[in-house]
Amino acid sequence: MASAVGANWAGNYEFGAARLHTPSSVEEVQAIVAGSPHVRALGTRHSFNDLADASGDLISLVDLPPELVIDADARTVTLAAGTRYGTVAAALQSEGWALHNMGSLPHISVAGAISTGTHGSGNRNGSLATAVSGLEFVTGRGELAQVTRQAPSFAGMVVSLGALGVVTRVTLDIQPTFDVRQDVYVELPWDALLESFEEITGAAYSVSLFTNWRGDSLEQLWLKTRLEAGEPRVLPGTVFGATSSLSKIATLAGAELDNTTMQGGVPGPWSERLPHFRFDATPSNGDELQSEFFVDRAHAAAALSVVRSLGERIAPLLLVTELRTVAADELWLSMAYERESLAIHFTWKNEPAAVFALLPDLEAALAPFGARPHWGKVFTGDARSVVPLYERMPEFAALAGVYDPDRQFRNDYLERVLGLPQ
Ligand SMILES: Cc1cc2nc3c(=O)[nH]c(=O)nc-3n(C[C@H](O)[C@H](O)[C@H](O)COP(=O)(O)OP(=O)(O)OC[C@H]3O[C@@H](n4cnc5c(N)ncnc54)[C@H](O)[C@@H]3O)c2cc1C
Repeated sequence: MASAVGANWAGNYEFGAARLHTPSSVEEVQAIVAGSPHVRALGTRHSFNDLADASGDLISLVDLPPELVIDADARTVTLAAGTRYGTVAAALQSEGWALHNMGSLPHISVAGAISTGTHGSGNRNGSLATAVSGLEFVTGRGELAQVTRQAPSFAGMVVSLGALGVVTRVTLDIQPTFDVRQDVYVELPWDALLESFEEITGAAYSVSLFTNWRGDSLEQLWLKTRLEAGEPRVLPGTVFGATSSLSKIATLAGAELDNTTMQGGVPGPWSERLPHFRFDATPSNGDELQSEFFVDRAHAAAALSVVRSLGERIAPLLLVTELRTVAADELWLSMAYERESLAIHFTWKNEPAAVFALLPDLEAALAPFGARPHWGKVFTGDARSVVPLYERMPEFAALAGVYDPDRQFRNDYLERVLGLPQ
């Protein structure tokens, strides 16, 4: 039976919440929160698990007007938290400004993305949450809290999994706009990657690698090169043994090519090159599950080798794996907390039983590397394995006690994975 709220984007999870509210003002959000014993915020529903769900009320802010305010002197933009990245990016670009990075799809909401530590790629690029310099949110008591980066516990409030309140406005760092060219190379030898991991992932502003874990080569290497004035606009035909591809290539074999942003080295604004998918097209293929695990880049070669040893079990269930890097940050619940990270991502076929049968073995293989699962994707770990991966978890639990004293924002996920009782 369909639930009152419907399903997530991928359709693999039906929300159990009784009601979905779409308030038109912050005051309405405050009233809903103050009047509900079990309430949480819902973004654009792109997470693959029960993280966003509540047993009572869900609040969606994604249809509120963006109300973007650019502060050129402070180099920030402040906006309604439910705004999608694609909307923010287009507005900033039209005014000559840029964000430091984007996730693979521009369709996700800012609040939903920063709440889970969503990231793009680049050895020196922090997750999207690292751009947050201010937050406004409705606490469990229905009060409006405003915090800035200078607040003592701010680093605990940005990647907060909806546990502290309903975020209503977000302030992000911006910088002058820049151009990017996107080039795809094919058939990168595995040996080259394992020997020269840092050089390859550092070969452009943002680098992605795609593989099915079979054979001696990774299928694709994507270089998103930031074009500073005077930089040569010609890239070599071969890099690290991979060959330049002149034809357009999709992330998923056989996928509709026209959903990807412009490749082939054609320069264009950051907003139309850093995301893999176009804002006006369906990203990925939708009939899928996703998992992702973050390890210290210092152990990249060893971690990739253990996953590769499971390649024959992974490949039949896989649509594609993407490898990206994320710079270390100080956000308590960030998957890249104090760790220069490699993110090993799996887009699975929509075969939940088989995927959930494989995940424990994959997670066990990555456990020696302290692999942190992406909060918004599918994994089987629980508080026993996840909590020890985050040394600031006790402080986060204390923060949740301050902003949500009656545990209105708690749900099954937060209890199961973070050990926060309901
Ligand atoms: C096709 C596809 C591609 C993806 N690509 C990437 C990628 O490149 N990189 C990456 O890291 N992840 C990626 N993801 C995962 C995705 O970015 C995360 O799951 C993200 O959290 C989704 O944002 P959302 O707005 O859909 O949030 P939801 O899934 O709706 O919610 C996620 C969490 O955010 C909280 N939340 C939402 N809004 C608010 C609010 N206003 N206040 C407080 N809490 C709130 C919810 O309570 C919940 O805890 C991808 C997912 C899909 C489906």
